Amino acid sequence: MLAMNYRGPYRVRADHKPYPEILHPEDAIVRVTRSCICGSDLHLYHGLVPDTRVGMTFGHEFIGIVEEIGPSVQNLKVGDHVIVPFNVACGKCVFCEQQMYGNCHESNSQATAVGGIFGYSHTAGGYDGGQAEYVRVPYADVGPTVIPAEMHPDDAVLLTDVVPTGYQAAEMGGIKPGDTVVVFGAGPVGIMAAKCAWLFGAGRVIVIDHIEYRLEFVKNYAQCEAYNFRSLEDPVLFIKKTTDWIGADVCIDAVGCEAAGSALQTITGVKLMLQAGAATALHWAINSVKKGGIVSIVGVYGPTGNLIPIGNVVNKGITIRANQASVKRLLPRLIEHIKEGRLDPKAIITHRVPLEEVGDAYHIFSAKLDNCIKTILIPPS
Ligand code: NAD
Ligand code: ZN
Repeated sequence: MLAMNYRGPYRVRADHKPYPEILHPEDAIVRVTRSCICGSDLHLYHGLVPDTRVGMTFGHEFIGIVEEIGPSVQNLKVGDHVIVPFNVACGKCVFCEQQMYGNCHESNSQATAVGGIFGYSHTAGGYDGGQAEYVRVPYADVGPTVIPAEMHPDDAVLLTDVVPTGYQAAEMGGIKPGDTVVVFGAGPVGIMAAKCAWLFGAGRVIVIDHIEYRLEFVKNYAQCEAYNFRSLEDPVLFIKKTTDWIGADVCIDAVGCEAAGSALQTITGVKLMLQAGAATALHWAINSVKKGGIVSIVGVYGPTGNLIPIGNVVNKGITIRANQASVKRLLPRLIEHIKEGRLDPKAIITHRVPLEEVGDAYHIFSAKLDNCIKTILIPPS
């Protein structure tokens, strides 16, 4: 079958690989009908996530048709069209019992780290991902969810990660009616976080990025304010000024660690590590949230040792909340929001690329070329 193949930082291509097999009675094999490239894949692509092995297939955002099921699978049948959450979750451990599917204790042999994630290095269980024609889905009775009949497949594929992650970013922010929410990052996740902030009653939503076409998009799509930090004297100062020197009630980091060369600029009084893995947006979030405010982090940090201004966290009494999204927990309410027209995820899709051209697709998304926001990969039929 055709599958994405990681050859090293900035080098991916489509290759022929063996078909996946049922390895455990609770496995299913899914024929992928659509997958996406995520900002999280870029951290792998940029070589920032430890133990990302050459030969691996990435892809944790995919939907497809159940092709085969193991003998213990009860909730799925061959032919079902399913949303497959990016979390690989056993459904039974102490964390899954609390619906913390992103923190499953069984699906990753390095159980002290994150739970299992499809196509996300051996630090997340070493599972091959869905940027392929077929994929093995472990614990098939737990995550996969049949796509509602009326749902557009482009909306369905965005329910595997981007929509729940944006929603959970807003939820973790503990937004109260009237709150000023600042979202750092106008990628798919930040766009969705801005949109979802309104669902929690935000009074003002501000998005910060430096890519003009994304700022333009989010302004219209999420009906929010959007600012280019390169045209601001200092984003922290700007947020303080515009909140009457109080600071934002909630700041959301939808950026994560930066690629080499993308490092941005220094912050007032803080000389940053201007290299791969820098955490500029997180600094800005901590420094611009109000005293007692909440910083919600969904941006992913691969390398250890990102410097963060922990003194300010303590002195300002900030609450930091962070996690991988728990997709399965959020699906029922997000399906409802889409059905009722409050969310329109598929509007963020800008590119539709055959899986054969996965190398070009990564380059375009990574370099933010061609007004790219979200890319769908289509496997050969
Ligand atoms: P993306 O790369 O498309 O978007 C990131 C955006 O951040 C870009 O538009 C970039 O210009 C902007 N940016 C860079 N530095 C910035 C700064 N200092 N301030 C403001 N904006 C800045 O990625 P995405 O798909 O939107 O994902 C965003 C983050 O969310 C990534 O770190 C990704 O790994 C993470 N993520 C987390 C989860 C989760 O469950 N926690 C799930 C999906 C994605
Ligand atoms: Zn993702």
